[in-house]
Amino acid sequence: MKIFTRKSEVKEFLSIQKKSKNSIGFVPTMGALHQGHLSLIKRANKKNDITVVSIFVNPTQFDNKEDLDKYPKTYRNDVALLESVNCDVLFFPSVEEIYAENITSEKFDFDGLEHQMEGKFRDGHFNGVGTIVKTLFEIIEPDTAYFGKKDFQQLQIVKKLVEKYKLLVKIKGRPIFREEDGLAMSSRNARLTKEHREAAPFIYKTLKKARKKFGIKNAKELTEWVEKQFEEHPFLELEYFTIADEKTLQTITEVGANKKYRAFIAVFAGDIRLIDNIRLKNN
Ligand code: AMP
Repeated sequence: MKIFTRKSEVKEFLSIQKKSKNSIGFVPTMGALHQGHLSLIKRANKKNDITVVSIFVNPTQFDNKEDLDKYPKTYRNDVALLESVNCDVLFFPSVEEIYAENITSEKFDFDGLEHQMEGKFRDGHFNGVGTIVKTLFEIIEPDTAYFGKKDFQQLQIVKKLVEKYKLLVKIKGRPIFREEDGLAMSSRNARLTKEHREAAPFIYKTLKKARKKFGIKNAKELTEWVEKQFEEHPFLELEYFTIADEKTLQTITEVGANKKYRAFIAVFAGDIRLIDNIRLKNN
């Protein structure tokens, strides 16, 4: 695997690949890699000639300094994992290489997608995401980029970014990878205390129960039911639960025909914020 820390070097290497008509699959990450990341990389490998992974903990998408400072960093292990799945290129830039002196975000209009859910609770988060994804796309110029549905709102926002800026990259959303007990894999899981780690599968269990009740209870009743489950929980604190339209990400009050819905959740386990979501079936 080739490892580049400089934009100019990765660009030069990839321009040679492009001249040889090799297709480029790209998986942006913040490192502390797990099977969820590896599933995206394996998919990129299967569908492209060259797979590029970036590891960059993007400061402008963090609204919480402690979360940024304590974000897990496992570089040696990440490199070993990337080699084990035959990744071709790792791009591992410094903050200065990406932002120079000016660590700020561009301001984006994602047609309102940015104001829902994570956008309400993480100030400036999607401006940070838009800034880094656009920058990385400009450097790598991938044919296809792969994103997890774990961050479903981010996936929809990246699709909107590509549409608005007419970028020549295809965006693929991939399924959520889970631990055996159902907890969605996340780099932040490593920071959970033993108690919180044991409690955390409750999040997906509740989502699955909510999916069963969808169509029997209306959206408001279901939201209240989920809120009640967490009120009674000793270790987990609900930040939000909402049922939203997959396309607009707006909270629904009624179920319409020919629409796709998802339930979205954010929960604090101590200081660690966990998110998850589940596709709902219209009954
Ligand atoms: P991150 O390193 O958390 O920024 O994630 C990098 C990419 O991996 C994003 O597209 C995430 O949505 C995706 N990802 C993270 N966790 C999972 C998971 N459990 N299953 C599938 N994809 C994931």
